[in-house]
Amino acid sequence: MDKNKIIKSENIRRSANLPDYETALATFSWSAAHDVLDFMPGGALNIAHEAIDKHLILGQGEKIALRWIAKTGERTEFTYEELAHLTNKFANVLQAQGIKKGDRVYSLLGRKPELFIAALGTLKAGCVFCPLFSAFGPEPIKARMEIGGANALITSASLYRRKVKGIRAELPSLRNVFLIDGEAEGTNLLTDLMDTASDEFSTVPMKPEDMALLHFTSGTTGRPKGVVHVHEAVVAHHVTGRFALDLRPTDTYWCTADPGWVTGTSYGIIAPLVIGVTMIVDEADFDPARWYSILETEGVNVWYTAPTAIRMLMKAGRDMPTGHEFPHLRFMASVGEPLNPEAVVWGNEVFGQPFHDNWWQTETGGIMIANYASMDVKPGSMGKPLPGITAGILNVTPTDVQELTEPLAIGELALRPGWPSMMRAYLHEEARYNKCFRGGWYLSGDLAMRDSDGYYWFVGRSDDVIKSAGHLIGPFEVESALLEHPAVAEVAVVGLPDETAGEIVKAYVALKPGYQAKDGLRLDLLGHARKRLGPAVAPKEIVFRKNLPKTRSGKIMRRLLKARELGLPEGDISTLESDEQ
Ligand code: ATP
Ligand code: MG
Repeated sequence: MDKNKIIKSENIRRSANLPDYETALATFSWSAAHDVLDFMPGGALNIAHEAIDKHLILGQGEKIALRWIAKTGERTEFTYEELAHLTNKFANVLQAQGIKKGDRVYSLLGRKPELFIAALGTLKAGCVFCPLFSAFGPEPIKARMEIGGANALITSASLYRRKVKGIRAELPSLRNVFLIDGEAEGTNLLTDLMDTASDEFSTVPMKPEDMALLHFTSGTTGRPKGVVHVHEAVVAHHVTGRFALDLRPTDTYWCTADPGWVTGTSYGIIAPLVIGVTMIVDEADFDPARWYSILETEGVNVWYTAPTAIRMLMKAGRDMPTGHEFPHLRFMASVGEPLNPEAVVWGNEVFGQPFHDNWWQTETGGIMIANYASMDVKPGSMGKPLPGITAGILNVTPTDVQELTEPLAIGELALRPGWPSMMRAYLHEEARYNKCFRGGWYLSGDLAMRDSDGYYWFVGRSDDVIKSAGHLIGPFEVESALLEHPAVAEVAVVGLPDETAGEIVKAYVALKPGYQAKDGLRLDLLGHARKRLGPAVAPKEIVFRKNLPKTRSGKIMRRLLKARELGLPEGDISTLESDEQ
């Protein structure tokens, strides 16, 4: 990876909206960021007040908050005022059904307007919102509802019948199930209740430290954790939406994250609405032609997506975007996995600007390290810590932590706790939570390095890093080199035990259409990797697969590939999605 390659900020299509990075660092404080919120009478805080009610007070109720595109292509628009009334109705429904402040309200829905109404209505009522992936099977749903003590669930009739009905008897805390369509015994039809509910509701004033959200981690490395976030987190959502996504009130914004994942809440609901943008929500699954058309016809200004989707667009080929124009598109960002330099450069060619990678976790609640909106982009780097965030690269031993300051030293990526959206707990797992902190740092579990310009480079999750013949090999570097080859659509590498080298690198490759999994191609790829990486780091073995095992949030599950190679148990695979040999 060429750490000196730079896409200069003046070549990025953007007008000055933010202070430059250095000025922002020098002037930022969390207390000032806290004070710019609207607040409720008496200084109380509620995320939903900042996201919805505030805009009515400011006289902006007429503005479109949400433009929903159904699978059929039909569009429905909701103004801030309409969302205010609908979320008021939902909060009234919860209260009328005996659901109280602090109760846990879950959603199991695809990208439906009801999801947004439920999330914000739940917060208005002072309840805790917990989204689940609609693709989950009954067991992962049950496990997550048990951990969080779910009191209410909002879902569709078909999801209920297929996934919840059979486990309902084992969930004694689950008192209410609201269906957005259809009927089933022991449930209520939401529209019936909403129709008769008042559209006036006084949002419940909350203390900043009151619990607002429960998010489960992706389960990439093992059993998912139930992460607790509080209302104060909205301070960070607001600020990072501006710094890392360049969001402005005049923007049309499209976040493609699944609503069952933290990105779907922090940046798919809260940050954009607090800033006051118009959000695009597409109900349909990923489809390259549809995506290009949405970017163009909806006039998307800011687009937040993920490496897996970008790689799929690349796989669909350069002809696909031809004929489309994206004059409105000002800022593109990516999260969830390392973004290969190849993808950043490709974005620059197709859209006239690079994707801005940013790094964070369910635990951090918001973006921590980012290619700040007015900064030069180094393809392959996650960027720099946002204002208000202190990051470090640590050498962690069983007894000690030590900060590594020399450039390009590899160590654990750590953060100094204290930003508002930081998790407050792993629900019911105090020991697991406490293990994340050492010597005044929060340990992320990821390995990274920092270059002499202060840019951070992702190396791999600490569990995925490979030690071979005295080299520490980050899977990301090897995968990025293989991805440069025109035949490669996706790739994952793992380390396998080897008597002489300690570990050797094995790569799993999914090919682009038109390429055949033949020995000649395998040799070509091995040769390419050796040339790019040197023989010590290049894979010793390459196997072809249809696709790679991924979590529902689009993260490659390297641990699963490794466990299978070693004949070990597969562990928790509740979030496993694509996985074809
Ligand atoms: P689990 O903690 O259950 O194993 P997970 O870590 O995948 O799952 P998330 O909180 O959804 O759950 O994902 C956060 C992780 O995703 C980060 O720790 C990092 O490994 C990876 N990640 C996110 N963004 C980036 C990025 N821009 N570059 C590299 N890795 C990233
Ligand atoms: Mg994690």
